[in-house]
Amino acid sequence: MLRFYNSLTQKKEKFVPNEEGKVKLYTCGPTVYDTAHIGNFRTFLFEDFLKRVLIALGFEVFHIMNITDVDDKTIQKARDKQKSLSKITDHYTKIFKRDSAELKIIPADVYPAATKHIRGMINMIQKLMDKGHAYKTDDGSVFFSIESFKGYGSLTNINVSKMRQSKRVESDEYSLDNPRDFALWKAHKEEDIDVFWDSPWGRGRPGWHIECSAMSVEYLGNHFDIHCGGVDNKFPHHENEIAQSVCALGTPFVNYWLHAEYLLVNGGKMSKSLGNYYCLSDLYEKGFTTEEIRYILLSTHYRTKVDFRLDKQHEAKKVIQRIQELKSRLESISSSVSTGFPDETNSFNLALENDLDSPKAMSVFFDWIRKTNIKVDKNKLIAKKAAEGLNFIAYFDSIYGLLPKKESIPQDILDLVAEREEARRNGEWEKSDRLRNLIASEGWLVKDTPSGSKLSVK
Ligand code: AMP
Ligand code: ZN
Repeated sequence: MLRFYNSLTQKKEKFVPNEEGKVKLYTCGPTVYDTAHIGNFRTFLFEDFLKRVLIALGFEVFHIMNITDVDDKTIQKARDKQKSLSKITDHYTKIFKRDSAELKIIPADVYPAATKHIRGMINMIQKLMDKGHAYKTDDGSVFFSIESFKGYGSLTNINVSKMRQSKRVESDEYSLDNPRDFALWKAHKEEDIDVFWDSPWGRGRPGWHIECSAMSVEYLGNHFDIHCGGVDNKFPHHENEIAQSVCALGTPFVNYWLHAEYLLVNGGKMSKSLGNYYCLSDLYEKGFTTEEIRYILLSTHYRTKVDFRLDKQHEAKKVIQRIQELKSRLESISSSVSTGFPDETNSFNLALENDLDSPKAMSVFFDWIRKTNIKVDKNKLIAKKAAEGLNFIAYFDSIYGLLPKKESIPQDILDLVAEREEARRNGEWEKSDRLRNLIASEGWLVKDTPSGSKLSVK
């Protein structure tokens, strides 16, 4: 039974999609004012993990990830750099998609950009005004009245009447201690440079929160299955999305809200404003591989904070090597295909079905690796079991993506391996050993198996 911890009810709940076998998923995408850091990618990788698990369990997933290409931060960057908004946001959208692909994140079905959906936002704001949930201020801005919605605060458990210190807030982000009426439409100001659209309330631009409400309804309908983001999206962003969508559409909005915890650096949240961040390219420069980064970010449960340390690379390397080694050992025992799986696959699935318990699923898998290696050492693993084991590894990897895509082995290494095989055929053992050491010094391990030499990364 698949269960998720629903932030809305603060309980683990059985997952039942609105339509059998199909999942409609919305994940808040990047604000493209700068390069995403690996804290952002912790959340995006968790969403990728969720999606891979759903696919592995047989669901058809329709996934929307928006691109926030107009908000306070993107406009500020365009102003500071004296460039057009689209010049800035196109550039960082490209980098985001490149980094996501490098990290082997399965692309969303659609990446709607906020600036291409202004009409839908205006329509939704108009509905909120018509129903008495929103009001216009003298300057031509429109605010959502949190008093008008008695469910306001249900996601973050806040009691609005007790906490409110001032009536309205204009900026997109503000603190949980002071919930206020928030901007749906922001009247044009000089600091917004040339970023504005015409609306029934005059020139202006949307607030951040209405963007996700309008884009989700456009692609997924009023009422869909799962909405994700990082924990910092809970307030005010998701709380406000719920208020806008429920009040404008008059239907339930999202069934399951899933939030990933923070990635920390030295105990603090990794963020652009604190300057304590690594981007993907920083880690590649330090010699990390995609798979090592995936391992570090996925080996912790998504609702637990991850403290990112560079020295975790060592552990990641070892773990990935263990999988690769067992894979080549099994390949040398069986070259046939099987449809079966080891019994442990069941426990592995049970762990994932229990609110994506990645650490537990990994421990099942690595325990199986340990036991299987012992059987191989003792020559006790029959070909059928080896083939089943290869299926388990492939299944594991369809979810974790820890095996390097395809190691391209350099030609000079392949030439050395061929020369060594020739030496072995001729019984030139000393030469063969010398060549093995030479290959090892280039970072490759050569192993002799009944079906010939096998290479793996050292
Ligand atoms: P942004 O581009 O700022 O809208 O953030 C994109 C996503 O990254 C959002 O879902 C945030 O909640 C998430 N996020 C931001 N910082 C962190 C962090 N340090 N750890 C995990 N997720 C984060
Ligand atoms: Zn959003």
